[in-house]
Amino acid sequence: MNRSRDPRYDILFEPMKIGPVTAKNRFYQVPHCNGGGYRDPSAAAAMRRIKSEGGWGVIFTEQTEMHHTSEITPFIELRLWDDADIPALAKMAEAMHEHGALAGIQLAYSGINGPNLYTKEVPRGPSALPIRTFTNDPVQARAMDRQDIRDLRRWHRNAYRRAKQAGFDLVCLYGAHGFGIIQHFLSTATNQRSDEYGGSLENRSRLMRELIEEGRDAISDTCGLTLRLSLDEMIGELGFANSEVREMIEMHAELPDLWDLAHGAWEDCSGPSRFKEEGAQESLVSGIKKLTSKPVVGVGRFTSPDTMVRMIRSGTLDFIGCARPSIADPFLPKKIEEGRPDDIRECIGCNICITGDMTMSISRCTQNPTFMEEWRKGWHPERMQAKGASESVLIVGGGPAGLEAARALALRGYEVAIAEAGGELGGRVTRESKLPGLSAWGRVRDYRQYQLSQMPNVNVYLESRLSAEDILSFGFQNVAVATGSTWRRDGVARAHVVPMPIDRSMPIFTPDDLMGGKVPNGNVVLFDDDHYYMGGVLAELMARQGAKVTLVTPSAFVSDWTRNTLEQGAIHRRLAEHGVKIVLNRTIQRIGANGATSACVYTGATRVIEADAVVLVTSRLQDDTVWTDLKARAAEWADHGIKSIKVIGDAEAPGPIAWATYAGHRFAREMDEPDIGDALPFRREVAALAAD
Ligand code: ADP
Ligand code: SF4
Repeated sequence: MNRSRDPRYDILFEPMKIGPVTAKNRFYQVPHCNGGGYRDPSAAAAMRRIKSEGGWGVIFTEQTEMHHTSEITPFIELRLWDDADIPALAKMAEAMHEHGALAGIQLAYSGINGPNLYTKEVPRGPSALPIRTFTNDPVQARAMDRQDIRDLRRWHRNAYRRAKQAGFDLVCLYGAHGFGIIQHFLSTATNQRSDEYGGSLENRSRLMRELIEEGRDAISDTCGLTLRLSLDEMIGELGFANSEVREMIEMHAELPDLWDLAHGAWEDCSGPSRFKEEGAQESLVSGIKKLTSKPVVGVGRFTSPDTMVRMIRSGTLDFIGCARPSIADPFLPKKIEEGRPDDIRECIGCNICITGDMTMSISRCTQNPTFMEEWRKGWHPERMQAKGASESVLIVGGGPAGLEAARALALRGYEVAIAEAGGELGGRVTRESKLPGLSAWGRVRDYRQYQLSQMPNVNVYLESRLSAEDILSFGFQNVAVATGSTWRRDGVARAHVVPMPIDRSMPIFTPDDLMGGKVPNGNVVLFDDDHYYMGGVLAELMARQGAKVTLVTPSAFVSDWTRNTLEQGAIHRRLAEHGVKIVLNRTIQRIGANGATSACVYTGATRVIEADAVVLVTSRLQDDTVWTDLKARAAEWADHGIKSIKVIGDAEAPGPIAWATYAGHRFAREMDEPDIGDALPFRREVAALAAD
């Protein structure tokens, strides 16, 4: 169907000038990491190309280290250390340009944030202080002297020239999230100098002014120069607080070609939906536009076109900045433009994408399984290859794996049936989205359910628990078993690889019990040996309902793995606010009639924590009975006209939701494709060996 854009969204498509260049619309993909960076330049470039196709007016790179004296190993971003880096960046700029976006590069000199573990250079900052990284590296920076500042200015001039040579239209100086030297100079927390670069706000902004003015001399004929700052450093008066940010913008109102306003540290800026609403930074940014005639861009996990319009009409922002929403749906602008906003695959705010960067692997997205697979696997977020030789596919289980498999297969043109045992679709997503703060996760189901409802070649059967016998008798040519998983009741995970001794008189609960509405009260011990969000969320749920909760974990952190989703601090704070007692570095050895015996993971010293009930958040068992039954009858498949049966998602091996949507998508992509045997199932780039 050919629909046209709703006129109330026209304002989002107005062209906007940024210095000497013009963006075709107000959709501004702010810089974001992807875990690929310099190691996977073609994968990163292809990902940006898809965003160009998706209609973004401005597309930025991730953080680009602009000089070797300041790098952030082990994190993998981009590099512009010398001319050798230009070709990879030129490829990126070209990809951004392909469908008419402005190509932007974010230059970072990491200063007090760069430990230089790879280059072994001594870090430099405004003042001599320890390096500020996630990993508390035992490294300090020396204070820059005047010669260092002259060097830094020259290095910037070199970087400007290289960025222009690579073909970028916009150069952004990074001074946000505590990651860039401009912020380090602006903030009294990191700038304790007494020369002309320290002290007054005017002095602290001197370096910023010099760098921008020199940039203007170097490249302003073809490039816009933008500045990315945090709206508030979020460390109180000592830091660069919102009031001072405003003062500084007023002081230098016309200095950059655009003000790109991020927020706090990265944790503050990329708050997950569990802790932050869409548009959460509105009050911090509102009014800033009045201080300058230059355009202002801000972020806020914007996925709703109405909110975007409100941001523009209220005079809060000129550009709608998006990182995560552009990852979850690279075609977000295009879908609004084509009058189909209901097709937007809304970001759920889970921050799984960020874990790709934090673990230096490669990013994934829960909602968009094609993210970072555009080049590696040739996957497009909106298009699938045409159907292969067979016709029909039965999906057993309507959780995230089953739903994504069904959607993607239906798009290819297969006849698809989903059989779901329960009365509604969504599987674990439906259950988990009812937990405190996780309602946005329901979008994983909602997007797919809506897409499936629009396709004539899909049938959904609810209340249909299938057995192997049923499946064999139905006569579908292909089957995906996506039957999910169940939380274990025996304590097996990492601390206990065999079942834990449990007294039968102690009531034991699993996450499935709690999500099913059976929530214990009184004195409850929650043992978290899972380490992702579930333990913390359930502790919050029980505390909200009046239980006295003690959370015990063998880790040194509550919900340890959520350090990778940037929410560990917020989780600990939330639990403390709700009176949850947090017991770290202790395991549960055994569960008795009156309580749990905990043991220190270092000394083994034990003590009993009294409890009326124990909740075990340990690990999950794959629900693969249907699959094992089918496998046992493999000899009968052909007689029933079955070409293939596969087990996917949590039923194969439990993992985060993003793993399930990926598995579903992969199943759909590989249907009827030739077997590649032992070949690597994706493309990769191997560094060229030097001649000597
Ligand atoms: P995943 O994350 O892999 O998609 P989920 O646990 O979210 O796994 O979803 C699995 C879905 O499969 C659940 O909705 C469950 O009700 C359904 N299911 C489990 N066993 C059967 C079965 N035998 N027949 C049909 N549906 C099933
Ligand atoms: Fe949004 Fe989660 Fe995708 Fe990141 S991984 S873009 S937070 S849905």
